[in-house]
Amino acid sequence: GHRMLEQQLQLKHTQLRNRLVMGSMHTGLEEGWHNRKRLRAFYEARAKGGTAMLITGGYSPNLRGKLTPISSSFNSYYDVFKHRAYTNAVHKHGGKICLQLLHAGRYAYHPFNQAPSAIKAPISPYKPKAMSLSSIKKTIKDFAHSAYMAEKAGYDGVEVMGSEGYLINEFMAPHTNKRNDEFGGSLENRMRLAVEIVKAVRAKVSEQFLIIFRLSVMDLIPNGSTPEEVTIQALELEKAGVDIFNTGIGWHEARIPTIASMVPPGAFKEASKRLKDVIKVPVIAVNRINTPEIANEILNAGDADLISMARPLLADPEFFNKYNNQLSKHINICIGCNQGCLDHVFKGKRATCLVNPQAAFELDYPLEKTTKAKKVLVVGAGPAGLSSSCYLAEKGHTVTLIDQKMQMGGQFNLAMQIPGKEDFNHTLAYYTNELERLNVTVELGKAYDDSMLAHYDDIVFATGVRPREASIECSDGKRVFAYDEVIRGEVELGKSIAILGAGGIGFDMVAFLSEQKSQSISDFKSQWGIECEPKPYKDDRQLYMLKRSAGRFGSDLGKTTGWIHRQVAKQHSVKQIADCQYHSFDKNGLTITVAGDKQVLAVDTVIACIGQVSNNEVLAKQSDNAKVHVIGGAKLATAIDAKRAIYEALQIAREI
Ligand code: SF4
Repeated sequence: GHRMLEQQLQLKHTQLRNRLVMGSMHTGLEEGWHNRKRLRAFYEARAKGGTAMLITGGYSPNLRGKLTPISSSFNSYYDVFKHRAYTNAVHKHGGKICLQLLHAGRYAYHPFNQAPSAIKAPISPYKPKAMSLSSIKKTIKDFAHSAYMAEKAGYDGVEVMGSEGYLINEFMAPHTNKRNDEFGGSLENRMRLAVEIVKAVRAKVSEQFLIIFRLSVMDLIPNGSTPEEVTIQALELEKAGVDIFNTGIGWHEARIPTIASMVPPGAFKEASKRLKDVIKVPVIAVNRINTPEIANEILNAGDADLISMARPLLADPEFFNKYNNQLSKHINICIGCNQGCLDHVFKGKRATCLVNPQAAFELDYPLEKTTKAKKVLVVGAGPAGLSSSCYLAEKGHTVTLIDQKMQMGGQFNLAMQIPGKEDFNHTLAYYTNELERLNVTVELGKAYDDSMLAHYDDIVFATGVRPREASIECSDGKRVFAYDEVIRGEVELGKSIAILGAGGIGFDMVAFLSEQKSQSISDFKSQWGIECEPKPYKDDRQLYMLKRSAGRFGSDLGKTTGWIHRQVAKQHSVKQIADCQYHSFDKNGLTITVAGDKQVLAVDTVIACIGQVSNNEVLAKQSDNAKVHVIGGAKLATAIDAKRAIYEALQIAREI
């Protein structure tokens, strides 16, 4: 197709060098003085990588709008001084950078939060105070003042955060706005705050200073704005002085996946199209756009003028340059897992990326070329082995990668079979292409033996894991299956299936047995009831999830995706039994004890998802050999953890 992503975009007073925008992300480097060099390096790498325009994490215009007590605001000369380092670094590489202004409204995680009306958000323990008229007026002024200061700091514009259920969005929606003054009631009144903010900002900044407005096109909550209302909001905001619209999808409290890996790529392109149909200024498309192909498809169809990528630029800061130099197959693609980025931020940790542990750690974990090239053997071509081979070769070592299987990928091969995890295909393809580019010698079907020791300066064992076997007495020709043989399609399954274990793999097994692979956008929307009634399921199999521990299922899954996995299990009427002992399996079913009560669960198939053990047999003899290193699942098998595997691969390469 047509390559629109590299085309320049002429705005009123300025030009963007291409169509790629880095969407706003909170990295955890925004706060305090001590991380400013790290944040500068983070932005600089993305600007250097060719991105046309970056948008910073959200900064509040005032104290009460801060997301948390320690979150950053932007309104003083101290901020101007600090942020000049960022804007200069980006400009040096020909990029543009805009500051996001975010007033958290009732989502603010502190007792001084404010909202249009005093209604607590389901995701915050703090009931907000309804804003007085004077407080609203002051907030409008604060936005304008922050924008004015942002221009002084060298920013090319601001993004006014009007979506995801934050303050401005709360004013727009009748769900949260029950006011009966001029800021509530009619549509005109509900959007008055947004319009007044844009006008006040416009009046305080120069003509060429960009105002991006992130408008919530689909709230995905009851009593949100209707599509007709969104159209009128967009037109009014354009009149008030907005230069670019960014698309917002779903409030944070909405229980519909909008960015997780099971969201089909480009699922929300229709939202930006809706804006584009009514306004003249450029529109940015967002959410689950992670490859140049999807980006170009959206641009070519005229659904948007610009593409926002946030997480994909954590995964690969060089995204644009690689694309532009016809090296797209060397782009490290974001798999939408949230494990390194959002899940970290929710825990108050610095964001990084599962497939790129250097993201936001540019200064902490540099990989410098070696002055002493070594011969290194890597054993095992799963996530840990593939990534360490690439890092080691990148550093300048001569690397040989062996695996006893005839196929590379290890656990990646299982993960990519799970509906919603198809993007692991990209990761495996990326490593395969990188191995070739970096001249790594790959020998498949070759097992390690100790005679190899003498031929290498260093050996990295990345032999991974295998499933833990269940110790359940079986008779009548029955057998408990391991999850890997089920995923590989090697065994025949019945109609009534017990899944033992309720960790990540247990829930993956539910998805594998009940969800469609590579779901279409329309099926996705009807599953989750996006602007329609959710479609009820009729499964021809009954699934049971069993676990030994008491308590809720899936409570230790990732914060940003766990609720989706739990919801999918509910959609498929999976029966969950906690506090359960497993005894024997025969033609009548699985004998279990639940809370002291012995019973037979009438199932014909049992699948063990009860963890894994390290493949470390060959290692025992070498445990104190200084040239032998162990990483990934071979080192620790408590969970299948690609994030730790790739992180350890980077660190071992830095050491060797
Ligand atoms: Fe994407 Fe996962 Fe990296 Fe986040 S951690 S940027 S979701 S690959």
